[in-house]
Amino acid sequence: MTHNFGAGPCILPQEVFKQASQAVLEFNGTGLSILEISHRTPEFEAVVDETVRLVKELLNVPEGYSVVLLQGGASLQFAMVPMNLLAEGETAAYLNTGVWATKALKEAKIFGNVNVVASSKDDNFTFIPKDFEIPSDSAYFHYTSNNTIYGTELMTVPETSVPVVCDMSSDIFSRVIDVSQFSLIYAGAQKNMGPAGLTLAIVKDEILGKIDRKIPSMLDYKVQIDGGSMYNTPPVFAIYVSMLNLRWLKSKGGVAEIEKENISKSEALYKEIDRNPLFKGTCSIEDRSRMNVCFVMENPELEKPFLKFAEDRDIIGIKGHRSVGGFRASMYNALPITSVHTLIDAMQEFAEKHR
Ligand code: PLP
Repeated sequence: MTHNFGAGPCILPQEVFKQASQAVLEFNGTGLSILEISHRTPEFEAVVDETVRLVKELLNVPEGYSVVLLQGGASLQFAMVPMNLLAEGETAAYLNTGVWATKALKEAKIFGNVNVVASSKDDNFTFIPKDFEIPSDSAYFHYTSNNTIYGTELMTVPETSVPVVCDMSSDIFSRVIDVSQFSLIYAGAQKNMGPAGLTLAIVKDEILGKIDRKIPSMLDYKVQIDGGSMYNTPPVFAIYVSMLNLRWLKSKGGVAEIEKENISKSEALYKEIDRNPLFKGTCSIEDRSRMNVCFVMENPELEKPFLKFAEDRDIIGIKGHRSVGGFRASMYNALPITSVHTLIDAMQEFAEKHR
């Protein structure tokens, strides 16, 4: 068995891949592939409906919110959010906790003013700033809940009276959230939801329609919502596989159950990092991510040999992002805890050899 600690895209359970591959050959008794069936058929409309229903059910989305399936990745949301919510002359508040947050606020500057309320850039984003104020006249407050590259995660929503917008690309569906605390949540699907090519947005209806600027139809949340996520040809396969994966998540007991597993997995690995004299974590302990565990070796010369040692045990994808170095073990929902134990065993065996 290969233990895939890669950061993505699209780490899903084997059974989901199997069902998806079957549907490429023949979808649901139609005699057609999921790739060729018209997206306007009742069969495919049922797929979109079920996907939206599962998102609502699994995240307990309250009344007054629309769930919409988009394209363009989270990166397009960086622009779509200010285009739809930030009027010229207004200011939006951004918390800068990494590369993705930096890219998001860069796009917002095209449409209005940006107030970076706090940033941990000077410390290479190794922590999440806590001490900041969000001016009450901000159009909205934007933050990234999980910083995929640096391995930090903000579990609590900062207190504010202004609408909260969150990039949840890399931790959505990994833990219980209270959607009512947010005005807009978006996520590239490709971590815990499904294949790349699909982007999820959960939008509080009342925040839309307040901006005068002309918005191209494809980039207008209202148009996309009114079009039932089918304003244009949707990414049919990515939606279908996401639906299968959300069914899998539901069958596991839903987000609360997977959160327990994610806690066990991350606690076990952080415990080993803190215990093993060869390794050390890279970010502040209180901000540690459950999804992306970043660590280095006390002796950097041992990093290459450890990478090889791990690969020999079918542990792949642990090389750290180039801006952090060392290692990053990404532990999305589909990664079994047995894989985490395999990595821990490898760290222990390696430490034995290098005492
Ligand atoms: N935001 C976060 C937190 C991410 O992890 C990523 C990609 O990994 C992105 C945004 C960019 O997503 P996309 O590639 O879908 O544009």
